[in-house]
Amino acid sequence: MTKTEEEQNEALQQLSKELGDLKINLETEYLKQFLIARSWNVKAAKEQLENTLSWRKENNVDLHPVATEDNKLPLLYPVRGFSCLPDGNLEAHPDISSAVLRIYRWMGGSCLHKTDNDGCPVYIERLGYHAAKEIAKYSTSEEVSHYHTGCNEFLHRVIMKDCSKKAGKHINRETVIFDCTGMGWHQFHMPALYYIKAISDTDQKYYPETLNKLYLVNAPSAFVMVWRVVKGWLDPGTIDKIQILGKDYKEVLLKQIPAENLPSFLGGQCTCSHISGGCVPSQILKNIPIMESNSDNENVSTAYSTTIMEKGKTDEHIRGPAFFQESK
Ligand SMILES: [Zn+2]
Repeated sequence: MTKTEEEQNEALQQLSKELGDLKINLETEYLKQFLIARSWNVKAAKEQLENTLSWRKENNVDLHPVATEDNKLPLLYPVRGFSCLPDGNLEAHPDISSAVLRIYRWMGGSCLHKTDNDGCPVYIERLGYHAAKEIAKYSTSEEVSHYHTGCNEFLHRVIMKDCSKKAGKHINRETVIFDCTGMGWHQFHMPALYYIKAISDTDQKYYPETLNKLYLVNAPSAFVMVWRVVKGWLDPGTIDKIQILGKDYKEVLLKQIPAENLPSFLGGQCTCSHISGGCVPSQILKNIPIMESNSDNENVSTAYSTTIMEKGKTDEHIRGPAFFQESK
């Protein structure tokens, strides 16, 4: 059901009015995310927004530290090609919790890798190489959720702002490529699937309309069966943005992403030969050394150590940019 521009503006004004004092720091583009997610139903959008703001407050999400070039906090995942901070990898730095290192050890590889033709950051995950059983065995659902929130806050407070500046327009969406190469039935491990469900629930509830495109490439034909299950967890609006592709994906990806920004293993020209791990570092694929957590890495469920998490509450420098910008 599409709305005319006039109807959209009306809904936006109505939502701003109903929010009253809550509106103060919220950008118009942020309000729109909730309206689009709730099909421009003002009452439903307001409810979701209020729930999001309560969740952020209860969990101190606004105070979560994020890495910037200025505060030199270690990265929670690898980044390539942004001007706000140098290319880097996740390292076993003492400020990183052992939880993050335990999760990352068994991930097939991930990277926030350059931008697409819309100016959106591209996140690549080698889903097919995830050691699902080990992730579920060596980490808890709470640890995975905290890690995911830390990555989300960094993405929205640091990377999206960088992309917005570069594109000269508001960017709040991410393009995602899940590479299924290597995928087998061992991936469909129930406890691991519950973790995926928990993080996709969080994203839909508290980070609505932040997906630009999602490509599942090298998908095994059996995946179609599992897709029927996963589809049930997603909003109809989300399903439209998703493409599940087998081996013939290169042209589709190159329509969305310039060849120089797309890794060569996905049909592009990028190799990131200047940095360890290339475009997408992976301990499973052994293109970076195995990182064991040691006694320096505190055993807490948060992404950063307690000291860093506490510093975020009082030190704006450690906390990084605000999630919301002042409304004009
Ligand atoms: Zn690259």
